[in-house]
Amino acid sequence: MKNRYAGDHDNGAVPSFLLTKPIYPMMPKILVTRFSATNSEKLFGNYQRFGRNTRIMDWIDKKSLLLATCGAHLTGVDADEYITRSTAGPGAGGPGSFFLLENGRRVRLCVDPGSEVVCMHHGGGAVTCDLAGETFSATLEKPGLHCPRQAYITVTESCTFSCRYCSVPKGRGRKTKEGIVALIESVLSSIDAISLTSGVLKSIEEEEEYVLSVVRDIRRFSLPIGVSIVPTPAGPLRMKEAGVYEVKFNLETATDALFSMICPGLSRAVIFDALRESVPLFGRGHVFSNIIFGLGETDEELATCMRSLAETGIIPILRPLYPAAALASLKRPGAERIKTVFLMHRDILSRYDLDVSAARTMCPACTGCDLIPGVDS
Ligand code: SF4
Repeated sequence: MKNRYAGDHDNGAVPSFLLTKPIYPMMPKILVTRFSATNSEKLFGNYQRFGRNTRIMDWIDKKSLLLATCGAHLTGVDADEYITRSTAGPGAGGPGSFFLLENGRRVRLCVDPGSEVVCMHHGGGAVTCDLAGETFSATLEKPGLHCPRQAYITVTESCTFSCRYCSVPKGRGRKTKEGIVALIESVLSSIDAISLTSGVLKSIEEEEEYVLSVVRDIRRFSLPIGVSIVPTPAGPLRMKEAGVYEVKFNLETATDALFSMICPGLSRAVIFDALRESVPLFGRGHVFSNIIFGLGETDEELATCMRSLAETGIIPILRPLYPAAALASLKRPGAERIKTVFLMHRDILSRYDLDVSAARTMCPACTGCDLIPGVDS
């Protein structure tokens, strides 16, 4: 598949609409050229040439670079208690990942001894990180289950569908309700929310029924519960009645055409309808949808998708592609594009008065894998 964006942008070209439509007044043109590289060596070189001697990197630049690089070499004092080994989310099944916190803002990094980003652990979670020739201090956060401050549980670690980006292993099966309760109890003192996601063991209907039965069992913890599954048309109302606080149904791609290539057998229209029906039930700003970018979509297509969600009160979460599974040969978006998409995202959420910082569950409350308007900026 030809990556249209990579073809235009990774060579340093800027989409013409970015230059002619002043919808990103905060984006100086120098950044457009400064982050034009795609591999980390060239990227860091550019940063040093244009940025290091003139100012300290701000958090948006820093997180853009970290998200583009994706991994870091975590060294120094043993940090195993800070490493999470997940079966869902970016990097699932890999050597693990860890969460850095700087001034209350979070980023998740995969453990990668070969990375040019080096985080030195001094003990007690205190780290100093070298990034693009700059050193900054941060702290390591202990994960609850999967991410900090949440028990984020994959109910069924198997799926009958074959979404091309997904590395959820087949055949691992389903957690029992008793097992899920025990998992939550094991981290109860360190979490503020419970989030559930799931593959599809038999059918979308059967999976939803099982996840809702789990929700009824875990209401006893009196914590906000977020659910991210493939919904049935009746799913939003049933989830509300079961006690779910927030929902996230992932459209995954910016366009229908990409969806049918990436997620064969699933219906983007059904997911979109469920999102729309969820807004009056859960409230504006408490309904989310992950959109992966880096699949070959254009920025215009991404903006159109974001607007179509935001105008109905749904918050899109923009996620740079983590090349894995059948998409392992694609490139992760570079820092320049991650920042460009963030600025578009921020503009659109502001226009529709949507506040991600009110989220209590799932990825919008975690923020580790994405640049989130209103939290990171
Ligand atoms: S942002 Fe979502 S996928 Fe990433 S670590 Fe947090 S909860 Fe997991």
